[in-house]
Amino acid sequence: MPRDPRFDILFEPVRLGPVVAKNRFFQVPHCNGMGHAKPRAHAAMRGVKAEGGWAVVSTEEVEIHASSDLSPYVEGRLWDDRDLPALALLSDAVHAHGALAAIELVHGGMNASNQYSRDVAIAPSAIASPDSYTPSQARAMTKADIRAYRRWHRDAALRARRAGFDVIYVYAGHGLSLPMHFLQARHNRRTDEYGGSLVNRARLLRELIEDTKDAVGDTCAVAVRFAVDELRGADGIESSGEGREVVALLAELPDLWDVNVSDWANDSMPSRFAPEGFQEDKVRFVKSLTSKPVVGVGRFTSPDAMVSQIRRGVLDMIGAARPSIADPFLPRKIESGEQDDIRECIGCNICVSGDYTMTPIRCTQNPTMGEEWRKGWHPERLPPRTADDAFLIVGAGPAGLECARVLGRRGHAVVLAEATAELGGRVAREARLPGLAAWVRVRDYRVQQLNKMSTVEICRGSPVTADQVLEFGATRVVLATGSRWRVDGVGRANTDPVPGFGAGTVLTPDDVMEGREAASPVVVFDDDHYYLGAILAEKLRSAGLAVTLVTPAACASAWTVHTLEQHRIQQRLLDSGVAILANHNVKGYAGGTLRLACTYTGRESAIAAASVVTVTARVSNDALALELAALGARLATAGVVSVTTIGDALAPSTIAAAVYAGHRHAREFDAPESDAVPFLRELPTA
Ligand code: ADP
Ligand code: SF4
Repeated sequence: MPRDPRFDILFEPVRLGPVVAKNRFFQVPHCNGMGHAKPRAHAAMRGVKAEGGWAVVSTEEVEIHASSDLSPYVEGRLWDDRDLPALALLSDAVHAHGALAAIELVHGGMNASNQYSRDVAIAPSAIASPDSYTPSQARAMTKADIRAYRRWHRDAALRARRAGFDVIYVYAGHGLSLPMHFLQARHNRRTDEYGGSLVNRARLLRELIEDTKDAVGDTCAVAVRFAVDELRGADGIESSGEGREVVALLAELPDLWDVNVSDWANDSMPSRFAPEGFQEDKVRFVKSLTSKPVVGVGRFTSPDAMVSQIRRGVLDMIGAARPSIADPFLPRKIESGEQDDIRECIGCNICVSGDYTMTPIRCTQNPTMGEEWRKGWHPERLPPRTADDAFLIVGAGPAGLECARVLGRRGHAVVLAEATAELGGRVAREARLPGLAAWVRVRDYRVQQLNKMSTVEICRGSPVTADQVLEFGATRVVLATGSRWRVDGVGRANTDPVPGFGAGTVLTPDDVMEGREAASPVVVFDDDHYYLGAILAEKLRSAGLAVTLVTPAACASAWTVHTLEQHRIQQRLLDSGVAILANHNVKGYAGGTLRLACTYTGRESAIAAASVVTVTARVSNDALALELAALGARLATAGVVSVTTIGDALAPSTIAAAVYAGHRHAREFDAPESDAVPFLRELPTA
């Protein structure tokens, strides 16, 4: 399809010092849990982005020295020449598709744990790391240390060029690097020419830019990633104050300004807390102070929003981490007039959890993310059809929808039968909860794709029974029937039912989502620890109920530290008047009283609860699977070759896991059975 001329401006080249970006799409640095430990996987993932049309493809943070050892987090590494081959894999993969390779050089200073290198962390002034409770401190850098650091940075820039990089970053983009720590008055208490006035605190950043330009600036673009606002008011850098002054001071020095807000949790704000383009107010001043190109981010997935940013003079290049993860082919789809096919990021931050849990990046919307090398999965290309199977997929939640999409794209005949009138399963229900509207994209993208496929038929309002399966004539049956929240309180803290918990006495999340009303005061018992308990508490509170969230964990939604949102969730609950009772388990419920016990001491207490919502665990909807299993040979007689249960119906998990399960089955159902490890591994000796 021809490109919509409205979007032509996005495909104009942009000069970045000595190099030229072929269009305005810029994949800004992002962590991925693969980094130096899994360089082949990392390179392949970035290569797919380049193939998808991004003009610049960046690494994540790349440590430049052993005193910046970010272990246990798995980032890039450029400590010496031995790191070059791994990084060259990446730049080669990016160059193979005509994109520029960018590298973000980082010294983490006081943020470096150095748990592997056992070096002493360095900082502008002696300080305890603000980001962890690690019982160690950073020492103040001497002038000799500053000189050494500048030398390491310069050497790293030279090495990066040898590894094939075209754009070399000086990084002050979050609170995660020395130049930023020097800028922050609260961390920089020096009395020499590197401390005190802003000009002094910016001296190191200036020197690093000058050093890098001097070292590699003849052939490489030198980019600065700088957080113009820390969103912490006068205690930090503000775009109306020092953020603006730093840009004014250094305006023409770099070849490119990559500007954002800090810290990472502010920069990668989930959709629950910030809309597309949310950084505009903070970064829009930058272009008025520099003639150099400016890139910025804001979870941009709409080409119209991108064009608007450029036409209104906010940005020159559209930066993206998450939108490029959810759809590595976003630029190419716009270029070829297929913008309706963009798989839009939902802003859930499951991708961030890869870095936090030190495992390869996963994405709710893009199940191929992180699988490019180890499974050979491509986000747009699928293996051709190998047989004439006819599929019946039961259940149109994320697992069933993705399975149908991939099978349909492979050319298989598919009937997707959904019991209810609505497609999307849990995603459709959850997207109606406060703040989760963008999550419906998981359904909408897939339904929109399925509607274009002539071999896929969708039947709504079609609860499937075992007898119907026998009569249906499908050769392969996929059960994606999902799960229901349990009502008996069984979960992590309670492996036996909680006395008094049962249908009719307490509500489940399904009940609340289906419109059953809770009475005030209500207790939400959250032993799930992801987002749902807190969101239900928020919903009930906004309906005017008195709400207490009881959790055996130390805080609300404890797992969401991995998605950068725990502190915001807790803040929102407290601000909205939800009481939080942490470190407590439930013991029993009777007569409007909920008995509790402290998880440490066992000391019992009681709380008045006219109603209870229990958020603990789910039970798979496996009734149909059991009925089919009981049919035995009658299935084969009816022509059914396989019955496979996937997604929450097999074992409840995240939406990302359900999408992955659907995708995996559709790709691999026809692969030979094997006990071999089902993906390639990067072994230390290989
Ligand atoms: P997952 O996350 O694994 O995709 P969901 O719970 O989101 O699971 O979706 C499961 C879907 O399956 C729901 O839309 C549900 O209505 C549907 N479903 C469950 N049992 C049947 C059945 N017997 N026939 C047809 N659809 C079913
Ligand atoms: Fe977006 Fe969620 Fe995918 Fe991250 S995991 S890119 S936030 S859809």
